[in-house]
Amino acid sequence: MSKHQSSNQSSDKEVYFYQAHGPMITSGGKNWCFSCGHVMLSNTVSRWATDKGCLNDLHPSYSRMVKKAGGRRGNNS
Ligand SMILES: [Zn+2]
Repeated sequence: MSKHQSSNQSSDKEVYFYQAHGPMITSGGKNWCFSCGHVMLSNTVSRWATDKGCLNDLHPSYSRMVKKAGGRRGNNS
């Protein structure tokens, strides 16, 4: 008589947790993650995503970061 009470087995929504990027691929002078396809650039959002790992798109701040990034298309470098 074991009542199985799983904590969060009902997955109607995926939850963010840290999963490091990798394996890393280098192509065209860029480093990108083979697992999630994230390209490591030197802009704020990319670095944020690099820091948050492969599941960065599940992170609560993700939409905010993307919005921020999408705001300005032009490059100022
Ligand atoms: Zn990744």
